[in-house]
Amino acid sequence: MRVDPWKVYDPSNIEQGNQIAQCVLNFINDPLTLKGTKSQSTFENALPKINEYTVLSGIVALQGKTVEKTLKKRKTNTMPQTYLLTLTTGLKVLPAEKIHTQSRGRLLHDMHAEILSIRLFNLILLEDIKRINDCSDNDRCGKILRQNRNGLFQLRDSTIKLAMFVTEAPCGDASLENISSRSSSNVDWKDEKCGLEPIRGRSFFNRKGLVRTKPGRRDSQKSLSKSCSDKLCMKQFTSLLNSTTFSFIDPAYRYQFYLEYIVIPEESISPVDVQRCFSDRLNLDKSETNIQDYFHAFKILPTELPDFPYQFKLNNSLNACATSLVYSPVYPNMLEVINKGVLNGRSSKKHINKEASSQLCREALFERVAELNSNCFENIKTYSNFKGSIKELRKIKEGAKKIFKNWGESTIDDFTIRGES
Ligand SMILES: [Zn+2]
Repeated sequence: MRVDPWKVYDPSNIEQGNQIAQCVLNFINDPLTLKGTKSQSTFENALPKINEYTVLSGIVALQGKTVEKTLKKRKTNTMPQTYLLTLTTGLKVLPAEKIHTQSRGRLLHDMHAEILSIRLFNLILLEDIKRINDCSDNDRCGKILRQNRNGLFQLRDSTIKLAMFVTEAPCGDASLENISSRSSSNVDWKDEKCGLEPIRGRSFFNRKGLVRTKPGRRDSQKSLSKSCSDKLCMKQFTSLLNSTTFSFIDPAYRYQFYLEYIVIPEESISPVDVQRCFSDRLNLDKSETNIQDYFHAFKILPTELPDFPYQFKLNNSLNACATSLVYSPVYPNMLEVINKGVLNGRSSKKHINKEASSQLCREALFERVAELNSNCFENIKTYSNFKGSIKELRKIKEGAKKIFKNWGESTIDDFTIRGES
């Protein structure tokens, strides 16, 4: 069957959607790599309690191709192998004011499950690069990456495709239908102006195709973090790679690091919303820049799996779980529980100690880069200098922001680089 390249929702591939979702859910039911370790209770305690809900996400590697076979005149598919790379939960975000006054690279701004999974994916790549650099054998292979002759990296297996599973439609433009159908009063928030800045959270939910910030309670402090819909949409231009990993990857193989699929429970998908959010609003065929050359569209696949083992769906009659779980079975030492932007149990008031910060915060990820590539200090005094030095990624992001029209500013979270000189 020919698939329309601009069609975002692909219900015909539900079998693949179920396989990806199952890979993530299997691990929740049976956390194999943690069995019998002290970490197992940490993992289980971070899952929502009986009166709580959260959102679950995971990035899955699909290895091998789908092969159509005819067995006794019946067509069946041999599915690719699946490997779970990341598993994260969460639905909280920090106010811009807190980040601005306290963070200096040490707070996690955005603890929505999808975004944590993407940060964790980048951390895994950095860890893999470190292991390959440290080992003396000739095959130059880590758990996910392989080093090419030019010193840059690609995926170890060229058949691998990356997919994400989320238990809810991403917040923002891809889930506007869900908001308006759930909103009890059905009254729009009408006290804000619309302009070139992103729309705040759930306000103006009748205005479609626009960049929004993370939803929050109406009385909550303002966050400038973009919605998951917008951030995931941006990943169609930039790939999953961020400033810390982008330069390590061989440009000839960068295509391997884009998401191929995002899997969402069937009942949470609004085909109209996802089509507009991830494709139509970008107007790429009319764009005058060459930014569309970087664009790799993903498909939204449904899953029809029965009940989840925990409350991984938005549920107004339960409390929102305050903590986020961060775990990678690829590197089982990467287990963290996050609360208010720092490790659970640590203080996030006033000064943030290094020991309180997550391995996923800006400072920790940057320090890994500095360890791998000491040249990255040249002419660089601050974290924002470092981000600016990844020129091609900047160019892609700036080009894409223009396409979104009202992307607006992000929270400044800069810090001086201490390893300098
Ligand atoms: Zn979100």
